[in-house]
Amino acid sequence: MNILLVYAHPEPRSLNGSLKRFIVDRLEGQGHAVQVSDLYAMGWKAALDGADRLDRDPEARFAPDADSRHAFDHGTQSADIVREQDKLRWADALILQFPLWWFSMPAILKGWVERVYANGFGYGVGEHSDARWGDRYGEGSLAGKRAMLVVTAGGWESHYGPRGINGPIDDLLFPIQHGILYYPGFDVLPPHVVYRTGKMDAARFAATCDTLGRRLDKLFSTAPLPFRRQNGGDYAIPELGLRPDLAPGRTGFGIHLDDAQPASLLHVAQPGGEQGAEREQDRARRHEAQAAAHAEGLAQ
Ligand code: FAD
Repeated sequence: MNILLVYAHPEPRSLNGSLKRFIVDRLEGQGHAVQVSDLYAMGWKAALDGADRLDRDPEARFAPDADSRHAFDHGTQSADIVREQDKLRWADALILQFPLWWFSMPAILKGWVERVYANGFGYGVGEHSDARWGDRYGEGSLAGKRAMLVVTAGGWESHYGPRGINGPIDDLLFPIQHGILYYPGFDVLPPHVVYRTGKMDAARFAATCDTLGRRLDKLFSTAPLPFRRQNGGDYAIPELGLRPDLAPGRTGFGIHLDDAQPASLLHVAQPGGEQGAEREQDRARRHEAQAAAHAEGLAQ
């Protein structure tokens, strides 16, 4: 399979640099073809501006969305944008790898998204009608492809737990996983988060690679997060609020996960952490037991 790794760290000798090399080796070792967009090494231009449309009249008012659409439709996008879009078309899976900086992705990676996700490619796709609100949230140009985050964080896993001071990691990553990856159609896998990076040594690095390697081995078999599809009937169109009979009385990011799906498909709190991996196994075991009990019940 084809995998695009978009990587955002300025220092090749960093922890992220080591993890990037591990990821590429592991995936290639599994027989996959890998392309890496190493944004700092490429000198990626992070700021979206008028130069992104090559045929723009410099005197005209710059309209980020309309100029993006024109350039996409007329083949006048900046060449660096076109190259990244071609890599995305080529890829069966996308991995975004970055250190958590100020509770989000580094600015250079946000700039990759802003510029590569052109109007007509990343958004502005599909019809708007009484039954559909464009091809997005589960549909779109990148539907059928998988995506996963590999994130390193200085904070502890507990700091990002359900009651942790930093806020739950699922909530912090929601704008990226739901807003940036699910929006144009990716099936989004649970993230792999490496916590407490200041406490890294050779032994922990080996253990981290071991856990990460097992995640990568299952890149094409892991169940994606069960985000609800926009046009699947769960949301009233055009208001796009979740139907009141679904997740009744609840609000917040979690309502956009369909918890009616089997437990094995539900997001676990920290699948990337060492403790999270154990919880994931526990949960899978519990689900197997429930499924067996259910099947037994049906058979009686
Ligand atoms: P490095 O600093 O390169 O390395 C981390 C440790 O791993 C070092 O001790 C290093 O010696 C060791 N190491 C590196 N490579 C190896 C190897 N191959 N084998 C063994 N050990 C190795 N954290 C949060 O939790 N939330 C935030 O919001 C947040 N915001 C930040 C904002 C900024 C601007 C910055 C600079 C940091 C922020 N951090 C935050 C911390 C940040 O997430 C971590 O510094 C980062 O994830 C560490 O990744 P790195 O690749 O830079 O690690």
